[in-house]
Amino acid sequence: MKNMKSLLEEAGKIIQISNFTIAFTGAGISVESGIPPFRGEHGLWNKYDPQVLDLGYFLNNSERSWLYIREIFYDFFAEAKPNQAHRVLANLESNKLLNAVVTQNIDNLHYEAGSKTVYEFHGNSKKLKCLKCGQVYDAKDIDFENIPPKCVHDGEVLKPDFIFFGEGIPHDAYADSFAAAEKAEVCIIVGSTGEVTPASYVPRTAKQAGATIIEINPDETIFTSSITDIHLKGKAAETLNKLQEILF
Ligand code: NAD
Repeated sequence: MKNMKSLLEEAGKIIQISNFTIAFTGAGISVESGIPPFRGEHGLWNKYDPQVLDLGYFLNNSERSWLYIREIFYDFFAEAKPNQAHRVLANLESNKLLNAVVTQNIDNLHYEAGSKTVYEFHGNSKKLKCLKCGQVYDAKDIDFENIPPKCVHDGEVLKPDFIFFGEGIPHDAYADSFAAAEKAEVCIIVGSTGEVTPASYVPRTAKQAGATIIEINPDETIFTSSITDIHLKGKAAETLNKLQEILF
């Protein structure tokens, strides 16, 4: 079995010669920024009922849904800052070693770290949208003391601009993510269980198109035994930092 150093060197060489590399990120990349994942021992679904993010439930119980949404996404997420893993991906992009980040995360941390080409497969919590007129609001301009927040034009309840259970993937993010996966020669999966579809088809599409799959996760996932070529078993920030040291 290869040790971590030789796996990192192998991954580094493959990234250096790749003409098109994408990263596919999940909740695990933001764990070291203080945002827990949904699943697992400390996952958010051990504390909250996922029903609050069901579109049908939200439409009928917006005040109750908003109580939890505010706590999870606007009291809690709002404090989070990008960590070294987000920063390394931004550095790789500015050094032409990474072409795009496809993220399942809704926390905006890739943009805050400086990444430019980010496809947000599940939307972004920093924006809110009126379900009636489509007006988009910046979360920083919303008074979360009064919930549910409402549209100033028509008084309709605002919904966070990330997808709820029962909603489709935003069209452009979907198209751009799969187009990037088709072109990818390398796909770096960071901190994702691979249990959420259709997002998990992005790295699977890359694999089918011939990409080498590098996975960074302290645990094994359903990707590890099915599509992963190189598993860098470790936390995102430390592992990506080591990879960066090899690359620069
Ligand atoms: P998940 O919650 O299903 O799994 C998280 C994965 O991260 C696990 O495989 C775990 O082993 C790994 N992990 C934990 N700590 C890590 C670390 N320090 N470094 C690297 N990996 C680590 O996450 P998912 O597959 O992204 O699916 C959950 C869905 O929930 C996503 O689609 C996303 O939309 C949403 N979500 C987003 C956020 C966010 O925006 N930060 C947070 C929670 C959930």
